[in-house]
Amino acid sequence: MKHRIVVLGAGYAGANAAGRLAKRLHPTGTEITLVNADPEFVERIRMHQLAAGQDLLPRSLTDVFAGTGVHVRLARVTAVDAERKTVDVVEADGPGEIAYDTLVYALGSTAGTCGVPGVAEHAHDIAGKQSALRLRASLADLAGGGTVLVVGGGLTGIEAVTEIAEARPDLEVSLAARGGLGDWLGDKAQGHLRKAFDRLGITVHEHTDIASVEQTGVVTADGRTIPAQVTVWTAGFAVHPIAMATTLQVSATGQIVVDDTMRSVSHPDVYAVGDAALAPGASGTPLRMSCASGVPSAHLAADVIAARLTGRQIPPNKIGYTAQCFSLGRRDAILQWVTPDDEPKPSAVIGKMAVRFKELICKAAAWSISHPTLMSPVRRRHAVPAEEALTIAA
Ligand SMILES: Cc1cc2nc3c(=O)[nH]c(=O)nc-3n(C[C@H](O)[C@H](O)[C@H](O)COP(=O)(O)OP(=O)(O)OC[C@H]3O[C@@H](n4cnc5c(N)ncnc54)[C@H](O)[C@@H]3O)c2cc1C
Repeated sequence: MKHRIVVLGAGYAGANAAGRLAKRLHPTGTEITLVNADPEFVERIRMHQLAAGQDLLPRSLTDVFAGTGVHVRLARVTAVDAERKTVDVVEADGPGEIAYDTLVYALGSTAGTCGVPGVAEHAHDIAGKQSALRLRASLADLAGGGTVLVVGGGLTGIEAVTEIAEARPDLEVSLAARGGLGDWLGDKAQGHLRKAFDRLGITVHEHTDIASVEQTGVVTADGRTIPAQVTVWTAGFAVHPIAMATTLQVSATGQIVVDDTMRSVSHPDVYAVGDAALAPGASGTPLRMSCASGVPSAHLAADVIAARLTGRQIPPNKIGYTAQCFSLGRRDAILQWVTPDDEPKPSAVIGKMAVRFKELICKAAAWSISHPTLMSPVRRRHAVPAEEALTIAA
C-alpha cells in the first residue's frame, strides 16, 4: 500500500509543500493529496489590492497541479483526528473522511478580533478573498469625503491604508496604530514612511488603543471617538480553531507547536507549516506569520518528510529573514533589510526600486505555486520500508 501524504490547505505554505513533495518522492510508493476549500489559489499578499479595486489573476488549483502527481481534492476541512489519523471534510457531494499516514497541516490564518468588542460585527478585514471583496464593495459605495479608518500599524495595516488612500484620494483616510508609525523600522525607512503618509494625505493616530468598534467609528481606550464610515481591522491574525480541537499540542493561540523540522512535538506523523505552525525562528523566537517564513517552512517540511521516508539525512533548518518588503500604494514601497531573526538593519531600499523588488517577490511567490514542480531539481526517490528509513534517518 502506498504511503498517504495529505496536505491540508493550498495557500503559500500548503501548495509549496505539496509541489515539493511531488518533486522529492516517487509516485510508486507515495500518494499526495492536497485539500483546499477554494478551487483557486488565493494570493493573500495582494488582498489590499483586491480591496482597493484591482483584479487579480485567477489560478485554478486543479489546473496548476495537473500532471504533477498531486491529487487536488476540493473540500472544506471540518476536523482532524490525530489519533485515528483521519480528516473530516465536506465536499460538493456531502461529508467525507480522508485517511493519512503523514499529515501536513497548512490551513493558514484568518482575521483576529483581539477580543475587541464590535470588531466582528462592524469592522472589515482583508485576511481573505471574500472579506476583501466585501470591503471593496463598501469602499465603492462611499461618496467623496467619506471616512475610512484602518486599525493596525503593522505591515498589513500600512499596505491597506496606503493602497486605499492612493486609489481613493477623494476619501478621508486614517490609520490607528498602537505604537508610533513604523517604529520598528530603521531610521531611513521610517522617514520615508512618514513622507509617504503625508503625500497620500493619511491622518495617523499614533499610540492609540482601540477599545471598541461601532457602526460609525471606534472608541479609543482613553475615551476618544474616531468617526469612520468604514473601519478596516488589521490588528491581528488568528488561526482556524480546527487544530485546537485535536489532541495535537497547540499554543495558546491555537497554532500547532512544531520542532525545527516542522514536525508536531506531540504527533510525529503530523507536520505544520505556514501561519498554522508555531515554529522556532533563528534565535528561538517564533517565526512570524508571513510568506517570508511560511514558504521556506513548507520546503523544509517536504524535504524532511521525503528524507524520513527514503532513509536520507534530515536537512538542516536554515529559515531566517532577509527583508521586510511592503507596498505604499502602487507607486511606492519600502524594503527594510533585516537580520535572520527579523531585526531591522540601518539600510533600506525605498521608492521605485523597492516597488520593483516588491512586485518581484509577489510574482515569484505566485509563480512558485503555479509551477509546483519547476522551482528546484526533481529528485523523485522511492520510499523505503519504515524500519529501514528509521534506522538511516534517525
Ligand atoms: C493583505 C495581506 C498582505 C500580506 N503581505 C505579506 C507580505 O508582503 N509578505 C509576507 O511575507 N506575508 C504577507 N502577508 C501574510 C501572508 O499572506 C500569510 O502569512 C500567508 O498567506 C500564510 O500562508 P499559509 O499558506 O500558511 O496560509 P494561507 O495563505 O492563508 O493559506 C491557507 C489555505 O488553506 C485554505 N483553508 C483554510 N481553511 C480551510 C478549511 N477549513 N478547509 C479547506 N481549506 C481551508 C485556504 O483556502 C487557503 O488556501 C500578508 C497577508 C495579508 C492578509
